[in-house]
This record gives sequence, structure tokens and C-alpha cells, in this order.
Amino acid sequence: MWCDFLGISLRRCLVAENTKIQWATHTWSPHRGCAKISPGCANCYAERGSHRNPGLFGVWGVNGNRVINADWDKPLAWDRKAAKLGERHRVFPSLCDPFEDREDLDGSRSRLLELISKTPNLDWLLLTKRPENWRPLMQRLANAGVSDGDCLAGDWLAGNPPANVWLGVSVENQEYADKRLPILLQIPAAIRWVSYEPALGLVDFKPHIWDIDWIVCGGESGPRARPFDLRWAEAARDQCKETDVLFFMKQAGSRPIMSSDEANPIKRAVCEKYNAGWIERHITDPKGGAIEEWPEDLRVREIPVVGATPAEIKKAEAKGMPLFDSTEKETGLE
Ligand code: SF4
Repeated sequence: MWCDFLGISLRRCLVAENTKIQWATHTWSPHRGCAKISPGCANCYAERGSHRNPGLFGVWGVNGNRVINADWDKPLAWDRKAAKLGERHRVFPSLCDPFEDREDLDGSRSRLLELISKTPNLDWLLLTKRPENWRPLMQRLANAGVSDGDCLAGDWLAGNPPANVWLGVSVENQEYADKRLPILLQIPAAIRWVSYEPALGLVDFKPHIWDIDWIVCGGESGPRARPFDLRWAEAARDQCKETDVLFFMKQAGSRPIMSSDEANPIKRAVCEKYNAGWIERHITDPKGGAIEEWPEDLRVREIPVVGATPAEIKKAEAKGMPLFDSTEKETGLE
């Protein structure tokens, strides 16, 4: 469905409220701080907060300080609000990698699993660049067996994932898609998703795409942003379309580029002379978030829905944005 008002495709779309991340309702991290692990981390936006206030955001690096969140009641309040409204809200831990290889964080991750089980009206979008750490982490928690969270880890390990966790991996290029996606597909999850952001190269998702539910695509933003070729986004969109995987175009980033073939003759001449056939596409939003500046066929924003409530479906229908709770799937180990 096309929405004239927003100028985007609205198949299965809910709108964010309390965060600038368009596909999440809230951000909340069990701890803050991380260590860089692959090229996508080079300009980590969470690390910028660490430079300003390390006491609040933690210190980056494998031995850096991690700061445990002091407010574990907030998600409980969001859950009550979502229940009252008859909606599901999405929570994204944006200032950490929940599966970082740090045993000193096991206690807070066990507590996170407990919190997730106590917030059935929230969908938790856990995103990692370290899916290989999921199994050893769950094993350690299950072996410890001292809290409800540890038991939940044992359940997940046994093939019963939390119903309200969407498990995702970040992939920035083909190398990391080939490394991380096969591991993701081995982990039981209600929804499996991919953050193709910052996209740094063309990715062929086909070998892995069949058991993926959702791909979010975006270019890098910020002063050191690397170029984002809009054809990478088009290729991801086409692969999703062919395989009935949902696609969400988040932003074109600060340096979207396009082929000179698409530019007018004057620009084409200039870019052929100076820029090896490429030009930077004009944008007004610093993150490339102005949808109207994207190629029209990239204005696609789809979001999966699991367990949409009748009230939510009714509300979405009234807005002309129908929801389709069609993403239930096998969640056992393959
Ligand atoms: S994994 Fe994520 S949070 Fe951690 S350094 Fe990389 S980009 Fe930043």
C-alpha cells in the first residue's frame, strides 16, 4: 500500500514515538559501552557519547568500563502503557552489543532475560555483531541456574526462545553477511532480522535470506560517513521483494551516491571528470532521512508484526495502514 501523506510504502508499518530510530518505540540498554569488532564499528555513534561522558556511557574497548543501567523500572512502565493502549511497543538497546564477550556482564544479561519475560507487551529488538557468543552465554547462564533469567536462558537454549525477542545481526558488507547470517539462522528466534547499516558494500543475501524476516537498510551518517551507493539499497530491496522478506529503508546516510547515468548532462560531465563516474546525491537532512529525496521506489518501510492485538489492528486499519500478523514461523533449532 502507498501512503500519499508520508510518501512511503506502508505494508505492516507502525510509527515510532519516543526515539529518533524510526523502527523503534523506545531505546533502553541493560549496560552501556562496547568494543569495536568490524568495519561497521569505525564511526560507532554510541562511542561518541562515551567521549563526552564516560561515567554514563562507559569506555570503549575490550577492557573498557561497562555501565549497568540504573533504571530497570522504565521498561516495566512502558509495558504497562503499551498494555493500556492495546499496542505492542518495540525496545532497542542502542548503546551496547548484548552479546559482547564479557562474563562480568552475565548478571545483567540474566536480569535482562527476566525483564523481557515480565514485559510481554514489548518487543525487544536485540541486535549483535557477535551472534557466535549467544550459545556460550546461554550455556553459562543456564549452568549458573541461580535466577529466573538463568532458567529462561536454559529454555532458549533448548529451543524455546522468548516470544517477544526479535534477534538481529548487523552486516555491513558481504564478508560479514557470510560470517554472521549462518550463525543467526542457527539460533531459535521469534523473528530474525538484519541491520544492513551502515551499508558499506553490495551484499548478496540470497544464500541466507530464506529464514530472515526483515532487513533494515541505511547509509552511514556523521562527519566521517562513508559513501552509500543507493544501488546497494535497491539490490537489498529487490532481494527482499523476491523472497517475501520485509524491507525497511531507514536513511540514505550523509553521503549517498548515485551513478552519473542518473544525473543530468551537466552534472554527469562534472562527475565523469572529477569523480570516476559517481556523484553525491543532494540531501538536506544530515542523515539522509528526508524520504522525499530518495528515489521513489526506495521509499519502502515495512515492519513485521507478531501478535498484534485486535485494538492495534483496528487502529492501524483506521489509519489506512493494515497490519498482517503473518510472521509466525518455526522457532526450533535447525
Ligand atoms: S558493535 Fe555496535 S555498539 Fe559495539 S562498537 Fe560496534 S557499532 Fe558500536
